[in-house]
Amino acid sequence: MSEETKVKYEKPIPLKTLDNTPYWDAADRHELALQKCNTCNAYNHPPGPSCASCGSVDVIWENQGSVIQGKVYSYVVSYRPFLPGFQNDIPLVIAVVELDHLPEVKIIGNILNGNAENVTIGSAVNMVWEDVTEDRAVPQWVLA
Ligand SMILES: [Zn+2]
Repeated sequence: MSEETKVKYEKPIPLKTLDNTPYWDAADRHELALQKCNTCNAYNHPPGPSCASCGSVDVIWENQGSVIQGKVYSYVVSYRPFLPGFQNDIPLVIAVVELDHLPEVKIIGNILNGNAENVTIGSAVNMVWEDVTEDRAVPQWVLA
């Protein structure tokens, strides 16, 4: 990552950890990977060291590809930048999105082209990946 990139992108960059590295590695390839329990078949999102449903540590990663569609399950509109870097994005729609093909999985992200007037519960959205640095991409949503 160049110094220039660091200066340009002021928002926090999610850190890769032991538990979430496959998720972020997939995001960097503009794909969605989900952690799944090999014991009870539940999906764990956000990922963790063990299954949130049954506690098993036998978890695997399942690639969902790069065409991810969902519906707004809930959202808030933020009118104040609580973190540096968001001051030019206000108002910002932050949504919990239910995946169409896996309704039990909900993923939080910003709706980049959303505002208080055009987003509602049930709005159809598509996942997109913002390349925030040379080697990092962050999943976000856009209205379908
Ligand atoms: Zn489980």
